[in-house]
Amino acid sequence: MKAILFDVTRCTGCERCVNACIESKGFDPIRAEHDRYTIKDGLSANRVSSIVEVSSDHFARKACMHCLEPSCVSACLVGGLTKTAKGPVVYDSSKCIGCRYCMLACPFTIPRYEWDEPIPFVQKCDMCYDRIKDGLKPACVEACPNDVMLFGEREELLAHAHQLVKENPHQYIDHVWGELEFDGTSVLYVTDVELSKLDFPFADTPSIPSQTNFL
Ligand code: SF4
Ligand code: SF4
Ligand code: SF4
Repeated sequence: MKAILFDVTRCTGCERCVNACIESKGFDPIRAEHDRYTIKDGLSANRVSSIVEVSSDHFARKACMHCLEPSCVSACLVGGLTKTAKGPVVYDSSKCIGCRYCMLACPFTIPRYEWDEPIPFVQKCDMCYDRIKDGLKPACVEACPNDVMLFGEREELLAHAHQLVKENPHQYIDHVWGELEFDGTSVLYVTDVELSKLDFPFADTPSIPSQTNFL
């Protein structure tokens, strides 16, 4: 099952990943730009991924977490959302009846509604499912100039993340976000700062150990 590992320590906040997402999905760039400045977390039906400044000069991705046991899928009565075997949680607008139960159910408050459209649908990141099926990486992963995101098998990314944290105890907090939270997600984070500004319901975790603790 595929996943994305996001390394907060490498991200400069340039938002090339977000722009690649907007282009790849065919969203209106003017509406997306408007939403960037008017919506607190930068997510909308025109902009399904955003970059949030989680601490001074530290940035993290906010988008669908592609949960292993997705509440949005459980909440949908008509099969509008599916957890695929490859990892992405995908949306089928042809089945959607617009009840918005998925929006209420998502613990990460991710799905957004096309309030301005005459026939509105739900929008959220699908991890570029069509690209993945063609053997490509998600557009955001490919666009990043700093290799902030690794895309691959979830188990391999988890092993890599734990090794990274273990080998660099002064660079990372000893935790891999998304490994266990909400029964696990297909987006994982390693970081040197806490992620509370994402407004995700992650439990508090210890801060990075100071150098002196190891002297
Ligand atoms: S983050 Fe929300 S929308 Fe995405 S899979 Fe999980 S419950 Fe569904
Ligand atoms: S809004 Fe659509 S996808 Fe969401 S729960 Fe309702 S029918 Fe399912
Ligand atoms: S493109 Fe890479 S460095 Fe730029 S904001 Fe996105 S993840 Fe961060």
